[in-house]
Amino acid sequence: MDTTKVHNFSAGPGVLPQEVLQQASEACLNFDKLNLSLLEISHRSKNFEAVMEEAMTLAKELLNLDDSYKVMFLGGGASMQFAMVPYNLLRDGGTAGYVNTGVWASKAIKEAKLIGNTQVVASSEDKKFTYIPKNFGIPTTLDYLHITSNNTIYGTQIKKFPTAATLVCDMSSDIFSRKVDGKKFGLIYAGAQKNMGPAGATMIAVKESLLGKVNRPMLSMLDYRLHIKNGSMYNTPPVFPIYVSMLTLRWLKNNGGVEWIEKINQQKADTLYTEIDRNSLFNGTTAKEDRSNMNVTFVMTKPELEPEFDKLWKAANISGLRGHRDVGGYRASLYNALTLNSVQVLVDVMKEFESKFAG
Ligand SMILES: *Cc1c(COP(=O)(O)O)cnc(C)c1O
Repeated sequence: MDTTKVHNFSAGPGVLPQEVLQQASEACLNFDKLNLSLLEISHRSKNFEAVMEEAMTLAKELLNLDDSYKVMFLGGGASMQFAMVPYNLLRDGGTAGYVNTGVWASKAIKEAKLIGNTQVVASSEDKKFTYIPKNFGIPTTLDYLHITSNNTIYGTQIKKFPTAATLVCDMSSDIFSRKVDGKKFGLIYAGAQKNMGPAGATMIAVKESLLGKVNRPMLSMLDYRLHIKNGSMYNTPPVFPIYVSMLTLRWLKNNGGVEWIEKINQQKADTLYTEIDRNSLFNGTTAKEDRSNMNVTFVMTKPELEPEFDKLWKAANISGLRGHRDVGGYRASLYNALTLNSVQVLVDVMKEFESKFAG
């Protein structure tokens, strides 16, 4: 292992497994022993069709989905799904419910409002999105209820999913990080660049029976049914991001799958939160029961010392620790490919910082 490697806590695009990056770089030069780059062959070649097929199969398997679900890999980012979800699922005269847990949820609500009736059934805006709303009423008449499983910016995560007839979930920043019974959801989507691969591809898994119930004339590129019918190849798909996502899912499966990574992710999160709670110079920023295992947010009790802390972690080869520009402070993203060792390095820096500057 290369011990000089940077400890990458970036919130997204985030860290990927070294072996995946190695394989991806090889495919850029010579893919499948074709003596051609993956970047210069047809997406309709049998070699790439096999990649697409494997990516879809792995995604389904790791989400515990059965054949009533269809998986797509499309361009446009998770943000495109903010529009595609209501466009495909929100009926004329129907209502879509949304839980507002931050910037990403708000953006999803904004798009849905342009398409049909929406109702915000719960929100944590009153406390700057530092907690997950619970025990709220869910009207039974909703076409769907939209939630965000992990709030990347604030560091909150849903631990117990609400029950709704049709649950739609933006899992961009914690997909494949923990055991989830995908069958509890009508639709799951996730941009690749947080926990699955490079930016440019978005995975969508949808229960097929939910589709075809809206009356609006469908623009081709926004129509799930058309993409499903064409195996995500109605147009040229984002070939490279899909390939690297497939490699990452293969890496996950070969190492023991979601059960394996969930334990490690829990250890990483416990290690860091324990130090945040112990260390006199740091405070966590979210409700304890809603703390994210993926994005750990914290602030300094003496903000004037931030430049000193920044010097220390940068010297320790740590990268990507600054908080989101909307909230400030610090954010350590502990995505699947980040090792427990990297978390330990950060904890050691926090301890060293305390011993130098506390009191
Ligand atoms: C990053 C992120 C998005 C936006 O993803 P894009 O691919 O940039 O559109 C949406 N939702 C969540 C939860 C995110 O973390």
